[in-house]
This record gives sequence, structure tokens and C-alpha cells, in this order.
Amino acid sequence: KVVLFWFRRDLRLEDNAGLAEALQSGYKVLPVFIFDEEILSRLDDKYDRRVDYIHQALAHIREDLATFGSSIKTCFGKPLEVFKKLFTEHDIAAVYCNRDYEPQAIKRDMAIKKLAEEKGAGFYDFKDQVIFEHRDILKADGMPYTIYTPYSNKWKASLTPADYSARKWRTEAFEKLKALPLPGLEAIGFEKTDITFTVPVLNAAIIDSYDQYRDFPAMDHTTHLGIALRFGTISIRKCVAFALEHNQTWLNELIWREFFMQILFHFPKVVTHSFKAKYDHIKWRNNEEEFERWCNGETGYPIVDAGMKQLNATGRMHNRVRMIVASFLCKHLLIDWRWGEAYFAAKLLDYDLSANNGNWQWAAGCGCDAAPYFRVFNPTTQTEKFDKKLEYIKKWNPGFQTDLKPPVVKHEFARERVLAVYKKALEDN
Ligand code: FAD
Repeated sequence: KVVLFWFRRDLRLEDNAGLAEALQSGYKVLPVFIFDEEILSRLDDKYDRRVDYIHQALAHIREDLATFGSSIKTCFGKPLEVFKKLFTEHDIAAVYCNRDYEPQAIKRDMAIKKLAEEKGAGFYDFKDQVIFEHRDILKADGMPYTIYTPYSNKWKASLTPADYSARKWRTEAFEKLKALPLPGLEAIGFEKTDITFTVPVLNAAIIDSYDQYRDFPAMDHTTHLGIALRFGTISIRKCVAFALEHNQTWLNELIWREFFMQILFHFPKVVTHSFKAKYDHIKWRNNEEEFERWCNGETGYPIVDAGMKQLNATGRMHNRVRMIVASFLCKHLLIDWRWGEAYFAAKLLDYDLSANNGNWQWAAGCGCDAAPYFRVFNPTTQTEKFDKKLEYIKKWNPGFQTDLKPPVVKHEFARERVLAVYKKALEDN
């Protein structure tokens, strides 16, 4: 008999909670990864850097496993079908994995658990992706927090060293295997991109002064660990231990990540609805031509256009600029935040349902703990504050002075318009 360890968004061997447990189960461990056909079929671009990143991270795991005389079984298909097959090929005592809190993932895991139980095997999932999961941090009345500051205070007060110490693992329990094939990207319908996977590192030079420089997009003084946290190529425990020693502001960002994850878990309706129900009555204009201009970085607002061009070219966008372009879409153009959310989901390397949804709702003013709706970012003032020398704009939108399009809408006009539309929706409902 063996136990399967099913990798998902935890693509590392070291300090991996579920894997460490599997390796202590008393059985040999067979590592497995499934390229989920359904998830992949929703991606439009065959040059998707995220799929390439996962592929390279798996190749790295496979090489490391080879040094322990083991390997990883990589499958492609619908997880339930894949598992049915795995149960016929192996004598499986149990399936081990780490918990995932997205609604679709929860459903998927319930189906696999049911199958495992029908086969007389166990299904054990562990907390790994976060320090505190769904029900760990609740208000005194047992209800979830919906405001960040009290949530983060409770989070910090609850933290003990055991929560962020590395999970110990033993390599001798991996099933002895000759190298198993890793299918090429083409075999799953994708192509090689320009992304290169490297083992993520915590950079003290960035993190130590994160609070001073993080808001200036031209400095690009943030960690770029978003994708590593998304796919678990770095452990959150390691990040938190480092943040505690180096920078509280950075720790706060890691707590925002968990805040939005627990919001999604407790309020799954946010996937399609505003957290604050009244905001679902806003009469969006949803002008398709204006949306196109926003997507292509052709709004005539240099900072907005620079941000969208950076996103389109690289899959990244600095957080300050994400806030500016998101506010611009919802407030200046009165386009439904869900359109912007979907565009970011298709493009961002670090796309994560909970963080993307939470931040878009924040920008639109309809989320939990969102910016008040009457705060409308002025792209010009934002530029003066955060890109005074226009360095970021010049880098990503170099033609901004020569081929400047007339602004898609005038700021003052847009401001009055959005205030009136929001006010009406909130007063009438
Ligand atoms: P750092 O600034 O070094 O921060 C470290 C980590 O903390 C990040 O990698 C991330 O995991 C977490 N974090 C930081 N800020 C936030 C935040 N506001 N909310 C939640 N987690 C945070 N972040 C995502 O990870 N995925 C998304 O899909 C995403 N969509 C966004 C959409 C909008 C409209 C906005 C305004 C922000 C969004 N963010 C998202 C949050 C933030 O912009 C990114 O996490 C950050 O820019 C990533 O850069 P970094 O990896 O250098 O992180």
C-alpha cells in the first residue's frame, strides 16, 4: 500500500504541511500532480505564463525527488476521473493534500474524498496555505470579521511560534521510483513563454525598507512573491517568520491576503455579488468601446495607460497602479467591477480569486471594509504623489506625450457622474 500526496497550490517539498504528514503516515508516499482539464480549458491564451510556471515548478520538484530516489506522477484530466484510474493502478491507503478554500476547489475535494471513502481509503487535508484559516480567527460572538483592522489585531494576538515554524519532513518515506515522465507543455495544449521559475527567496534588501518605498511604482520595491504565494512555491510560514523579524508593514500585507481568503470562504456570494448588497443596484454604463480602451491602455490618462500596458506586456502591475486603474474603470467609466476583475484574472501572474475579488470590490467601494464610495482617485494627483518624475509612465507608456489620445472622459465630469449614480443606487435601495 502507498499513500498519495496530491500537490495543488503547494508546489514545494520543503515545509509543506500535508506532505510532511504523509511522510509520517507509515506508508510510502507517491507524489501526484493533476493538470486539471477543466481549469486549463478556461484559459484563452496558450502562452499562459502561469501554466508554464507550474510546469517548471513541477520539473524542479521532479529533479529534487530524483535525488531521493523518487519521482512525481503527473496526470492530465478531470481530477475525479484521474483518481478513479489511480485507484485501479495503485493500492492506496489514503490521499493526503493541503486545504484549498475556493468554492470550486472545496466541491472538487469533497468528490475525491467521497471516492476515496468508497474505495476504503482515507482522505486527509491540512492547513498549509495560510497561518490562520477560515474559522481560526472569529469575533467574540463566533462570527467572521468583515473589517480588516480588528481582524489583523486578533490575527497578531493569536499568533504563536508554532504557527509559523517550518514543518519537518523525512525524505526516506518517498516511494522508490525511476524518473516518471513529465508531459511537455504542448501535450496539455500550451506553449513555452518567457517566464523562468527560480526558487523564491526572501530579499531583506526589499523587505527591510518595504514600508518606505512600496508605494512608488517606478522603484518597483515590492517582493514579486505573489506568484510564489499563489502556487505555494514558497511557504507562508517562512514568509511570516521573516516578516516578524524584518518588517511589520509587509506582515500586514500577508494578513490582507488571509483576510480576503476568509471573506471568500465565509461569503462565497462575493464571487458574483457585491459584499454590500445595495451596490448591486448601481447602474453601470458598461460601454464596450471604453472598456476596450481601458484594456489596451488607451484612456488618455498616462498613469492608467502605463499600468495597463505593463499588465498586458508582463502579467504584473504595481499595487499602487492596480488601485488607480481599478478605481478608474469603476468610477470614471462606470464599468462593472466584475469586468475588470475578469480581465485581471486572465492576465495577472499572481491572480488569486480571493485577493483579486476583494481588491476589486474595495476599489469599487462595494466590498467589505472598502474605500468610501465618494473617494474617487484623481489619476493626475496620484501621479504627482507617486510618480512625480513620470519614470513609471515613461517606462511603460513611452509615447504618452506624442500619441496622447484625448481623455476618454474628463475627470471632473466623471467624478460628478459617479457620485450621482452611486448615491441614487444607495438611496433608492
Ligand atoms: P508584496 O507587496 O511584496 O506583498 C507580499 C504579498 O502579500 C503579496 O504577494 C500578496 O500575496 C500579499 N498581498 C499584498 N497586498 C495584498 C492585498 N491588497 N490583498 C491581498 N493580498 C495582498 N494580489 C494577489 O495576490 N492576487 C490578485 O489577483 C490581486 N489582484 C488585485 C487586484 C486589484 C484591483 C488590486 C488593487 C490589488 C490586487 N492584489 C492582488 C493585491 C496586490 O496588488 C498584490 O498582492 C501585489 O501587488 C503583489 O506584489 P508583490 O508580489 O510584490 O507583493
